[in-house]
Amino acid sequence: MQSSSSDSQCSIEPVIYLTGGVVGCLILASIYPIIFLPLAAVVLVLDIVYFFRYISCRRREKQADQLTSDVEPAPPEEPEEAELPPEDAEPEATEDLELFEESEEIETGPVSSRMEIGISCPRCESFLPLNGPVLNVHCRSCQSGIEIPQSYWKDILGDAMEDVRELEKGTGTSSRIFGQFQSSNVYARLDPYCLECKTDFEDPWSLAPGSSYSCKECGAEYPVQNAPEWLSAAFPQIIYLLNAELDGTDAEDMNRDSTNPVVFTCPQCGGALKVTGEDRLVHCRYCDADVYLPDDLWLRLHPAKKKERWFVVYG
Ligand SMILES: [Zn+2]
Ligand SMILES: [Zn+2]
Ligand SMILES: [Zn+2]
Repeated sequence: MQSSSSDSQCSIEPVIYLTGGVVGCLILASIYPIIFLPLAAVVLVLDIVYFFRYISCRRREKQADQLTSDVEPAPPEEPEEAELPPEDAEPEATEDLELFEESEEIETGPVSSRMEIGISCPRCESFLPLNGPVLNVHCRSCQSGIEIPQSYWKDILGDAMEDVRELEKGTGTSSRIFGQFQSSNVYARLDPYCLECKTDFEDPWSLAPGSSYSCKECGAEYPVQNAPEWLSAAFPQIIYLLNAELDGTDAEDMNRDSTNPVVFTCPQCGGALKVTGEDRLVHCRYCDADVYLPDDLWLRLHPAKKKERWFVVYG
């Protein structure tokens, strides 16, 4: 079939040819009626079928031109032609609208970011976990105190809160930053959950800072904390911190670790050395040697601090 004149995709030609065929058959039927009368009837039926196809094709074309939304149910033979334009135009627009509304909902609610942060000691390169927004940290390997400036936290937490808001729930990012410190940061968009038994907190958004939460499953306690003043001044959107170490807790750990003296013999004379864990260089009172304590002993006295996960909940 070819397309016909007057910029229509519907072809009238088959109708014309078939009408000609009917007339031809009727003329020949006067000579051989047995053959050409039935043939004329068959061609006439075909002619009528093509005529109605042409009519309905023209009707659908007109409707497509007007871009009306309610298209009549198309006849089963030719569904492809008229239906496409209206379908293209409308559903796409509504889909965009829905997506926009969804992402707006995500933007407004409170967000919880699980943090795992650590730096490498600028003096000895040991890994130092930062289990909260602390402003100083004690390196147990080299016994030095390291000051963490507020600007470090403002960069880290500012980036984290911005990134995590755009993450899907249950996903996270991990990065290594070489700035003031060699810092390794893992942020994940995870609602508060029990770090012992992994049970989700019940209604974590209603928790008030200054309180504590105990796990409904295993009873583990978690402090729900106010952000330190300097931090809430920089980020008023922080609602609370959870399980975060704040300044001062590290020193207590240290004392507890180093109270038990350990017996260690002088490698030069075999005399017993008094090792308290305060100083890595120990003087031998028998042979006057200064003994530098080996790594394994020193680490036993000063176990590396464990990395703890903590949460920042913000609006
Ligand atoms: Zn160190
Ligand atoms: Zn639990
Ligand atoms: Zn000695």
